[in-house]
Amino acid sequence: MQAAESKPIATRGFATHDKNAKFAPFEFERRAVGPHDILIDIEYAGICHSDIHQARAEWEPMVPSTYPMVPGHEIVGRVSQVGSEVTKFSEGDIAGIGCFIDSCRECTPCEIGVEQYCVKGSAQTYNSTEMDRKTPTYGGYSKHYVIDEKYALKVQSRDDLSGVAPLLCAGITTYSPLRRWNVGPGKKVAVAGLGGLGHMGVKLAAAMGAEVTVLSTSPSKEKDATALGAHHFLITKDPDAMKAAAGSFDFLLDTISAVHDYNAYLNLLGLNGVMVVVGVPTEAIPLNAFSLIGGNKVLAGSLIGGIPETQEMLDFCAEHNVVSDVEIITPDRIEEAYDRTVKSDVRYRFVIDMKNA
Ligand code: NAP
Ligand code: ZN
Ligand code: ZN
Repeated sequence: MQAAESKPIATRGFATHDKNAKFAPFEFERRAVGPHDILIDIEYAGICHSDIHQARAEWEPMVPSTYPMVPGHEIVGRVSQVGSEVTKFSEGDIAGIGCFIDSCRECTPCEIGVEQYCVKGSAQTYNSTEMDRKTPTYGGYSKHYVIDEKYALKVQSRDDLSGVAPLLCAGITTYSPLRRWNVGPGKKVAVAGLGGLGHMGVKLAAAMGAEVTVLSTSPSKEKDATALGAHHFLITKDPDAMKAAAGSFDFLLDTISAVHDYNAYLNLLGLNGVMVVVGVPTEAIPLNAFSLIGGNKVLAGSLIGGIPETQEMLDFCAEHNVVSDVEIITPDRIEEAYDRTVKSDVRYRFVIDMKNA
């Protein structure tokens, strides 16, 4: 047993104290490293649009925002301490943390490794509590995290880890539906919204061998789309282009963060086409039944991914050399990054350098 196992870890993060999302340094403690825990010295934390939705209380009342809030669920860092019973990690290993840090461990979803659907509600990495439903959780815009090794991911060592952090949410959130709906060679795939999730969707679908089209509102992103691996680019604000593309896709991954017309995107699917919604606009969107029944279409949703599939995704990305395209910022630029992300001016994920913060 290591002596340090009994002492809480003093750390520093960047928190907002209300929905104006102004960030300031915030001193707090992580729990002492227990027998099954690891301590991670965080190096990079991605900025997901879900951080913005929650920091700015845009998902209330469905998801209440509690303050002080330290967001961040795309975390990568180095293991600096391991508990006495830890088997998966050693000091010095690279580890990742995604959107949840614990779950009930007993229900069917937990047993089959889709802990994000835990019937009791998994413990989110921030803006949540531990499974005791009392202890608040603080996220990755911080120097350290203490987590049960079962909920941490193994990351292969590489010189630059900044592009790995976004895999922990943007990567798995796009990988999981692509796998579930058997995207691969011969499939015509559309990715709607070329932001953090969208650019990972393009890279992953292309790596899986699909023919990929980006559906975007931003003409300036066309060149990037090709560089990311897309074969075609369609501007959704162009009615003629939308008409010409009607019925042409087998699968559409909708990563759009703002309110948009689902019916117009469903119209792009061919026979038996599937549209999976992963973006979470802040308001409900009307759906016309005709959009689904003509063409025998499926409209589905997907929430991140479980621990086994997240590990599979990280291994797939290591094998195919897939990382996120990132713009690295210092913590004093979080608000600017939020504003630029909301304006779709992100290429293609902001990542906070926590190593030097
Ligand atoms: P992001 O980087 O801001 O990307 C969103 C993209 O959507 C933008 O870059 C833009 O792409 C497009 N867009 C924005 N406003 C639009 C509008 N009014 N109409 C059409 N397109 C618009 O956000 P993100 O981090 O990828 O997250 C995307 C969404 O997924 C968020 O709502 C987030 O909360 C959610 N999310 C869900 C899960 C899950 O498990 N289901 C996980 C993570 C995140 P173009 O410039 O190409 O048009
Ligand atoms: Zn996220
Ligand atoms: Zn459970």
